[in-house]
Amino acid sequence: SDPSTLGFALVGFISGPVFHRYGAGYRFAKLACDLAEKHGFVANQPKVYHAMGTVAFWTQPVGAAIDFMRASSRTAIETGDLTFTCYGTHQVVTGVLLRNAPLDAVWRESEMALAFAREAKYDDAADIVRSQQRFIATMQGRTASLSTFNDAQFDEAAFEAQLTHDRMPLMICWYWILKLKARFLSGDYAEALAAADNAKPLLSVATAQIQLLDYFTYTAVTVAALYGNASEDEQHGWRELLRAHQEQLREWAETYPPTFADKYALVTAEIARLERRDADAMRLYEQAVQSARESGFVQFEGLAHELAAGWYAARASTTAGHAHLKAARNCYLRWGALGKVRQLDQRYPELRQESASPALAATIDAPIEQLDVATVIKASQAVSREIELGNVIETLIKLAIEHGGAERGLLILFPNGDPRISAEATTGRGAVEVALRQAAVTPSDLPESVLHYVIRTRQSVIVDDAAAPALFAADAYMQEVRPRSVLCVPLLKQTKLVGALYLENTLTPRVFTAARIAVLELLASQAAISLENATLYSDLRRSESILAEGQRISHTGSWSWNASTGEQRWSEETFRIFGYGPDVRPTLETVFARVHPDDLPLVQRQIERASSEGQHFDFEHRLLMPGGAVKHVNVVVHAVRDQAGQFDYAGTVMDVTAAKRAEEELRTAQADLANVTRVTTLGELAASIAHEVNQPLTAVVSNAEACRRWLNRGTPDLDEARSALESIIKNGHRAGEVIRRIRALLNRTDTPKAPLDINDVVDEAVALVHHDLAGRRVSMRTELAGALPPVEGDRIQLQQVIVNLVTNGIEAMQSITTRPRLLVIRTQQDESHNVLVSVTDCGVGIAADHADKLFDAFFTTKSSGMGMGLSICRSIIDAHGGRLSASRNAGPGATFQFALPPYGHA
Ligand code: ADP
Repeated sequence: SDPSTLGFALVGFISGPVFHRYGAGYRFAKLACDLAEKHGFVANQPKVYHAMGTVAFWTQPVGAAIDFMRASSRTAIETGDLTFTCYGTHQVVTGVLLRNAPLDAVWRESEMALAFAREAKYDDAADIVRSQQRFIATMQGRTASLSTFNDAQFDEAAFEAQLTHDRMPLMICWYWILKLKARFLSGDYAEALAAADNAKPLLSVATAQIQLLDYFTYTAVTVAALYGNASEDEQHGWRELLRAHQEQLREWAETYPPTFADKYALVTAEIARLERRDADAMRLYEQAVQSARESGFVQFEGLAHELAAGWYAARASTTAGHAHLKAARNCYLRWGALGKVRQLDQRYPELRQESASPALAATIDAPIEQLDVATVIKASQAVSREIELGNVIETLIKLAIEHGGAERGLLILFPNGDPRISAEATTGRGAVEVALRQAAVTPSDLPESVLHYVIRTRQSVIVDDAAAPALFAADAYMQEVRPRSVLCVPLLKQTKLVGALYLENTLTPRVFTAARIAVLELLASQAAISLENATLYSDLRRSESILAEGQRISHTGSWSWNASTGEQRWSEETFRIFGYGPDVRPTLETVFARVHPDDLPLVQRQIERASSEGQHFDFEHRLLMPGGAVKHVNVVVHAVRDQAGQFDYAGTVMDVTAAKRAEEELRTAQADLANVTRVTTLGELAASIAHEVNQPLTAVVSNAEACRRWLNRGTPDLDEARSALESIIKNGHRAGEVIRRIRALLNRTDTPKAPLDINDVVDEAVALVHHDLAGRRVSMRTELAGALPPVEGDRIQLQQVIVNLVTNGIEAMQSITTRPRLLVIRTQQDESHNVLVSVTDCGVGIAADHADKLFDAFFTTKSSGMGMGLSICRSIIDAHGGRLSASRNAGPGATFQFALPPYGHA
C-alpha cells in the first residue's frame, strides 16, 4: 500500500547510520522506490526519493544520490509538495558540493534552491541554502576575506544571532558544519573548533544525513592542526576524539570506498603525523591524494596535497613539499576556489610565478567565469526537442564540441551493456562534421582507461598534460596521440549510465575549464534523458511497425472504445478496413455509416450486449462500402471495467471477405456439382428411356399402320390384323418392361448401405442448397430432434432426396411475394420408431386433382420441368424400405415427408 512505501523508505533511512546496516538500508529504500514506481504511489514519491537519496549518499556514487534528490524535488513539484521541493533542491547542492563540482556550477544549483525556498516562504530552508552559499562564496573569494562569510549582503554575526532555539535544529547544525569546514580551509582552526562545538549538541537531529561526513572529517583535521600547541588535557581528549572519528570514517570507507576512502586516509595520515609514524604518514597522505583523485574529489585532493605539503615542509623536505603545494593550488583552481588559490599565492608567492602560464593567470585575475545560462538553456532545449535517436545524437555531439572547445568528440552509448561509438564529430574548415557510426570502441579511438574509469565511477574525468594522472599515463592512446586536453563525461539518468561523451583537444592544454565542464555536465544530464527517451521512442516505433505489418498481413485491425467518454482509438488497419482516412475521428457513427443496412440491427444488439454484459464475445457482420462493395468482418470484443466501474472495450476487427467469398464459391461449386449430377442422371435416364422405349414404340406404330392396312383391304385380312395387334401388345409390354427395368436400375439394390445419422445427412444437404436459398431470398429453419436412432442407407441417395424436396419447395415459393419465404426441415421419430424427415414450404401448395399424380414419372406443372424428381425420390425411399408422401398444410404450402425404419429394421 501507499503508506508502506514511506515505512520502508524510513527504515532504509535509519538502517545505515544508526544500525550500521548500510546494505540493508539501501535495499529497503530501493524496495520503497520500486513499490512507489511500480504502483504509481505518487503522493509519497518525493519523500521516498528523498530517503533514497539520503541512503544513496552512504552507499552509491554521489551522482546517483544527486539524481534521487533531483527526482525528489521533481516529483514534489509535480505533486505540489513545496516542503520537499525545498529539501530536494538543497540536498542537490549538498551533493554537488560533496562531489567537488566546480564551484560556479554549485552556485547555480544553490540559486535555484534558494528560489524554491523563497517561493515556498520556507525561511529555514532558505537559510540552509544561504549557509551553503556562504561557503561557496568564501571559497570563490567573493567574501570580504577567506576568513569570513561577510560581504555586502551578508552579516555573519547577525545571521548567527538569529539561530535561536525556535529555528530548525537541522539548519543550525548544518550551518555550523559548513562554518567548521570553511574556517578550517581558511586556516582559522580555533574558529573552526568553536563551530564544531556548536554543531555537536545538534548532531542527533542529523544522524542519517551526509553532512555528518564533513563534521567527522573536519573536526578531526581541525584538532589535529591544533594539537601541537594544546594543553596536555586537551591533547588527551582530542586523541580520543581522533580515534572515534577515525573509526567512524573507517566504517564508511569500508561501506563505500569511492566516496569515503580519501577522507579516512587523510584523517589516518594526520593521526600518524601526530604519532610521528613518518612512514605511515607519508604513505597515507599519498593514499588520500590518490583516492580523492580517482573519485574526482578535486577539492579534497587539494586538501590532501596541502596537508601533505605541511608535513614535508616540517621535515625540511622542500622539494616534495613544494610539489604538493603546487598540486594543491592546481586542484583548488580546478575546483574554482579562487579565494583559496589567492591565499596560497599570498603565502607562497613563488608558487604563483611558476604556474603563471598566461592563460591561467588570466583566469585567476578575471572575474569568476559565469555560466552562460542562456547558452545552457538553449543547448539543453535543442537536445530535448529532438525525438529521433539519430537527431538527438547529432545535436548532442555538435553542441558538445561547440561548447566544450574540443577538436574531436565521440558519443559512446551502451545499447546492450557494451560501449559502442554512436557518433564521431570533428572540427574541420570552420564547421563541425558529424558522422553517425555503429562501432565497437577500439584503443585507436580513445584512451580506453579513461572510458573505463568513467564507466566504473560514473564521474567525469579531465586529463590535461600539466597534470596527467599517472592512472592514464600508460594508456596506449595517450602515448600515441598525446592529446593535450581530454574530458570524458558520463551521461547518467537517475543511476543508470546511458552513455559517455568523450572530448579531446590535441593542440591546446586546459581547454576544459570549470565553466565549460559545468555546461557539458548540465548538457549531459539533459542528453541522458533525451537519449533514453529517443531510444524508447525508436523501440516503440519498431514494435509498432511490426504490429502494423502483422495487422496488414492478417487483415486484422485493433480498436479501443471508452464507453463513458465515447473516445475510440483505431489502428491503421482498422481505418483501412472501414475505408476511412487516418484523419477521420472514429466514433460509433463512423462505424454505423459503414455497417450494411441489413446488419445494423444485429450490430446495435451486439453493442447493447457489450454495454450490459461486458464479456468477451465475437460476431460477424457485413460492411457496405461507399462504392457498393460488401465486406465481411469478424469482430472480437473484450470488455474490462475501469476504475469508475465503467466498461472499457478493446477488440479486433478482421476482414474475412476473402475467406467468405472462398467459402461461398465452394458451396456454389458443390451445389452446381450436385445439380449437374442430377441433370446428368436425368439426361442419361431420358436418353436411355428414349432409346429403350423408342424401339417398341416404333414397332407399335408400324404394326398399327400394318393393322390398318390389313383392315382397309377390300376383304380385310383379319388374321394379319390380329397378328399385328398381337405384336402391338407384345411391344407395349416390352416398353413397360423397359420402364420397370429402369426403375429397378434406380433402386440399385447393390449400393452399400451404412448406419447414418439422418441429422448429418440433412445438414449436408442443406449445405448444398444454401447458395440457392440465399439467391432466391428464402430463409430456412431446421428443427432437428436429438437422440434419433441411426437409419440404414445410402448417404448420397438420401441427400439427393432431400435436395430434391428442398428445391421443389423453393420453386413452389418463387411466386410468393406477400409473405416471407420460409422453409422448415424437421427430423423426428414416430410412434413406430421410424425416423421422419419433413420439408415444409409455404408456397403455392398442391391442387386437389394433382395430389395422386405428383409421384408419377413425367408429371410436371412447370414449363421446364421433367416431372422425374419425385418419381425418383419415391423409388429411392422405397428401396430404403421407407415411404415418401405429400400433404397439404393447414396454412399455405405443402409438406413432403418420408419415413425410414431405424437401422437393423429395414
Ligand atoms: P418437376 O419438379 O420437374 O416438375 P417433380 O417430380 O419434382 O418434377 O415434381 C412434380 C410436380 O409436383 C411439380 O411439377 C409440381 O407441380 C408438384 N410439386 C412438387 N413439389 C411441390 C411443392 N413443394 N409444392 C407444390 N407442388 C409441388
